[in-house]
Amino acid sequence: MDMKINPVFDKPAGQPVVIAGPCSAESEEQVLKTARALAKQKIDCFRSGIWKPRTRPGSFEGVGVIGLKWLQKVKQETGLKVTTEVANREHVFEALKHGIDVLWLGARTTVNPFSVQEVADALKGTDIPVLIKNPINPDVKLWMGAIERIAKAGITKIGVIHRGFSSFGNSNYRNEPMWQLAIELKRLVPGIQMVCDNSHICGRRDTLAPVAQQAMDLQMDGLMTEVHPDPDNAWSDAAQQITPAVFGKLVKGLKIRSESTNDVEFLEHIDDLRSKIDNLDNELLDLYGKRMQLAESIGQYKKKNNIAILQSSRWNEILEQSMAKGRERGLSDGFVTQVLTAIHQESINHQTKVMNAKSTAKKTKKAKA
Ligand code: PEP
Ligand code: MN
Repeated sequence: MDMKINPVFDKPAGQPVVIAGPCSAESEEQVLKTARALAKQKIDCFRSGIWKPRTRPGSFEGVGVIGLKWLQKVKQETGLKVTTEVANREHVFEALKHGIDVLWLGARTTVNPFSVQEVADALKGTDIPVLIKNPINPDVKLWMGAIERIAKAGITKIGVIHRGFSSFGNSNYRNEPMWQLAIELKRLVPGIQMVCDNSHICGRRDTLAPVAQQAMDLQMDGLMTEVHPDPDNAWSDAAQQITPAVFGKLVKGLKIRSESTNDVEFLEHIDDLRSKIDNLDNELLDLYGKRMQLAESIGQYKKKNNIAILQSSRWNEILEQSMAKGRERGLSDGFVTQVLTAIHQESINHQTKVMNAKSTAKKTKKAKA
């Protein structure tokens, strides 16, 4: 699909787009207090959730339409642009009626094509900018699909919000950033403005700054961060919200590094290092190829002796040993596990092919008969 996508925010290169505000609008006073403090920091857009998609019923589900009136006041008083989350036709209708500047689709909406389509249909005939969060599950196609549905409705200013992905098990993150998926989306939709929602990635305060820095170093265009005047007593997402003052420091502390340079010495040095990396990658591919040949020989031998492909104890042993060796080389357990799991799966695929191949001897016999 040929999509015409323009940036949501006009921002000179090298300056991050800054969107900040409370997770939820709680009271007029709380909204205005936060907005006044953030307006002083000259942020680009004020965020606040009015309708809150909560994982379990019974949690605070947002103040509803009254909150849109508070956002109107923010606009009038501070001149800041305002944005809120919409998830259905009625939300879009109300947000447009109240002059909201930018809409965003939440992670639980992007995941559902019916909801995205409902929002897209409600947007037809308007050209309000829309930001689309990644879906909760790590599926770039679903994210793309939402962008396409909104673009098809005639919206031309579209941006995306990277807020991390749900995962099972222990993690330092509330939502795993899986940066490579954000990078992949940027590759698929070149030029699309992408901001990092470090709040929902981290789920806690102490890691917000390094995650924001990492987003800048991966050429993201800005941040969406939850800011609350009294974070500990916030009605939703208390653990991850920070005060305007702390947020101001976080933004000031960001190092914005340029994407490229014309400095010849730098370029030559980088080229040299990159060609070394390319050589190593080629060597790794050669080794993987050789490893798969060995896997096939093992497959033949197991077939002959009627032995199953997977021996769990052997696999556990390889994994444990490799993680220990990896640690000695500064490689994380997560990385070693991911690489080895992929290699192991590929080995199994090769062995399965060998195991299930009809022997050529039998085939010729059949052909003759
Ligand atoms: C939010 O921004 O407060 C929110 C509900 O986020 P997400 O859709 O990313 O969970
Ligand atoms: Mn939140």
